[in-house]
Amino acid sequence: ARVVDAGGDDDERIVEAALRPKRLAEFPGQPRVRDQLGLVLRAAKQRGSTPDHVLLSGPPGLGKTTLAMIVAAEIERPIRVTSGPAIQHAGDLAAVLSSLDEGEVLFLDEIHRMSRAAEEMLYLAMEDFRVDVIVGKGPGATAIPLELPPFTVVGATTRAGLLPAPLRDRFGFTGHLDYYDAADLETILHRSARLLGVDADGEGIAEIAGRSRGTPRIANRLLRRVRDWAQVHGSGRVDQVAALAALRLFDVDAAGLDRLDRAVLEALCRRFAGGPVGLSTLAVAVGEETDTVETVAEPYLVREGFMVRTPRGRAATRRAWEHLNLTPPVGSTT
Ligand code: ATP
Repeated sequence: ARVVDAGGDDDERIVEAALRPKRLAEFPGQPRVRDQLGLVLRAAKQRGSTPDHVLLSGPPGLGKTTLAMIVAAEIERPIRVTSGPAIQHAGDLAAVLSSLDEGEVLFLDEIHRMSRAAEEMLYLAMEDFRVDVIVGKGPGATAIPLELPPFTVVGATTRAGLLPAPLRDRFGFTGHLDYYDAADLETILHRSARLLGVDADGEGIAEIAGRSRGTPRIANRLLRRVRDWAQVHGSGRVDQVAALAALRLFDVDAAGLDRLDRAVLEALCRRFAGGPVGLSTLAVAVGEETDTVETVAEPYLVREGFMVRTPRGRAATRRAWEHLNLTPPVGSTT
């Protein structure tokens, strides 16, 4: 697993749980989403009603799960957690919906990965607080309507565009999470260091924040690796020396690029004179699957302006040449 992967596995989620902010007021970053969501929740609470359904979209590791938990905490209701891939049959969803208590928050992670039948059941339930439970099979099957108490769905997705319009329209509030700037990541890291009981100074934290790809999950993970280095080889303190040494050990460079990202850029510049070159040719050159290069390395390289996608293939930008300390060929325009 890459140390700069924005996704987290189940083990990591256990470590992460302790680092999640519990209330909106202690959630750094995403000021627009935080203020808008804060208003929606506060107004509903004042009216004594259940808040509108909330859809959170954005790349992995930016705080969608954290915000879902915060919604429940702010309205002081319990939360039920499930995910799109766990709901493959409408019956799975009916079972969850019919057991919800009044005002409960239902967190549906990866909501775009639910089956079509479950999606249809969900948007009817969100609109009318009702599900049709099918009893029996074949021609004799009958639908028995079951009333549900009001509840709030918080859906999370990395791909809002994949949700069918009828489902998307049932969400009264949609918040899009964006990558964090360095200042917000530093705030998050100082807070995490405090919670982990780690002594950290501003320079060490700034070094980690600058290499975290705008993603709190990566920032927290790098902090734990720098803490390890400081404990074993250093003074115990997360400072610039520890940060530089640990991040060199884990192959994360000053721009947050890891070995694979740099291999892609190196191949692009050295072997293909900056491109454009087809994705599959590029993947063969770095000895990786095309899919890995496209989904793992490319998004960050493109976002950060190291690489561009052109109709004739991938091309290196001036920033890539500079980052690798190479001179672009004469006449290069990117
Ligand atoms: P995924 O889509 O992979 O589930 P996610 O968007 O739901 O990711 P979270 O699980 O909420 O992301 O957050 C990942 C980690 O980053 C957690 O440890 C969480 O504490 C931390 N984190 C995310 N956003 C913030 C924030 N604004 N402040 C502090 N920590 C944060």
